[in-house]
Amino acid sequence: MERKVRVRFAPSPTGPLHIGGVRTALYNYLFAKKHGGDFILRIEDTDQKRFVPGAEDYINESLAWLGISPDEGVRQGGEFAPYRQSERMSMYKQYADQLVTSGYAYYAFDTTEDLEEMRAKLEAARMPAKYDASSRMSMKNSLSMSEDEVSKRLENGDPYVIRIKLPRKEEVRFHDEVRGWVVVHSSQMDDKVLIKQDGLPTYHLANVVDDHIMQISHVIRGEEWLPSAPLHVLLYRYLGWEETMPKLAHLSLLLKPDGKGKLSKRDGDRLGFPVFPLEWKDPKTQEISSGYRESGYLPEAVINMLALLGWHPSDNQEIFSLEELVQAFSLEKVSKSGAKFDADKAKWFNNRYLQAMDNSELSTLIRPLLAAKGWEAEDEYLTNVVAMVKEKVNFAPEILEVSEYFFVAPTSYDEKTVKKKWKGDTPAMIKELADDFDTIALFTADVVQESFSKFVESKGVSPGSLMQPLRLSVSGMAGGPPIFEMLELLGKDVVVSRMRTANESIPSPE
Ligand code: GLU
Repeated sequence: MERKVRVRFAPSPTGPLHIGGVRTALYNYLFAKKHGGDFILRIEDTDQKRFVPGAEDYINESLAWLGISPDEGVRQGGEFAPYRQSERMSMYKQYADQLVTSGYAYYAFDTTEDLEEMRAKLEAARMPAKYDASSRMSMKNSLSMSEDEVSKRLENGDPYVIRIKLPRKEEVRFHDEVRGWVVVHSSQMDDKVLIKQDGLPTYHLANVVDDHIMQISHVIRGEEWLPSAPLHVLLYRYLGWEETMPKLAHLSLLLKPDGKGKLSKRDGDRLGFPVFPLEWKDPKTQEISSGYRESGYLPEAVINMLALLGWHPSDNQEIFSLEELVQAFSLEKVSKSGAKFDADKAKWFNNRYLQAMDNSELSTLIRPLLAAKGWEAEDEYLTNVVAMVKEKVNFAPEILEVSEYFFVAPTSYDEKTVKKKWKGDTPAMIKELADDFDTIALFTADVVQESFSKFVESKGVSPGSLMQPLRLSVSGMAGGPPIFEMLELLGKDVVVSRMRTANESIPSPE
């Protein structure tokens, strides 16, 4: 019988979620949904030393903002709760004990000094400084000591760790869904700690035990975990779970824009683009790292961009809704090589989504920004402004940057235009034109344009010579949307009054 697809995203709450992590979550989600399966969010917080307050909430909120909704998780609950490893601590030790009993793991009593001494000795002999089949018999553990001594030490409460006992010479092989067959020789590996001195599990044990208990069918994770995979394969085998071992898929790295190395947390603000989904304030240093959300990206655009960083659809389609991604996604099309991050492409995606977005939806989105600026506008008016200016912008917040004059009278005027055009009888003509505009009953673009044409004709000047001064007097800008439509939207009262006061407001060119 086909196994139900169950995948998990298992971040450690050690800081803000990097977009590489978001991409891992997304691929897990797409894979699960494509196969009618479950997407689980498990928080791997066994390492209390690296715990960062706020990081777990950050993970949850990032996924929620992006619409990558877990079916089971710390907030959602589920059949296999709890989903936070720190709340599952009592479950892991029994499996390490089982491994000790069956001879696949052992107690090790070495002190830090013992370990350092071993390292120094092996390094001096130019041997790999590893705790493994070659070195373990010269260390203090239940394999090298007599049974009596071991029992005595355990009774005494001497501190110990539990280590896995790896075979001296064995090829560990597994099939990776992205990379194909991977073969690692056990001599390259070491006897990793499974249970630490404080009795708590390490990542390896907790991760494997939870994946088994939570009936995970596929482990899809970043390439940085590939070196741990052979150990995990052996753990499944030694615990007797090989039959149901999840399939493994390791995703290649997200690279810096120049392709030289992994896209790091520091790269974003250094190179001028976010590497985090949401803004993050470091609780210790108070340092702020920018986020896609706060930079004005739409979640759908971020999803689309990330999906294509390391996965190729079978044709050249570029714009995909989440639903379309679910339909099209497959692990076979995930690339083996690293994907270069492309900040321009990220902007391009945002632009595409912004232009396609419904104007009233977009105005709802920017309404809080409008309020923050202390500007007011009716819904319909705001929607019309959005429709008029959005073509020129890549990000929602930019809409307000280019449309300020729709909400408040200009306080500054484009210097170049002032210098070139605001001279001679132009100011007086604008004032006179305002009187003509004032007599218009139905202030629509067509009517205003007609009135303007008549006016320039009667003055014997070219329309071009007065068009820019008119725009300048009303908006303060040199350019913008089609002028008569802009005037219609602003309304007669605003237009006429700004034209009338322009002479005093606009500084005369020296
Ligand atoms: N806790 C690990 C991490 O932080 C999980 C790796 C895995 O998916 O197995 O990424």
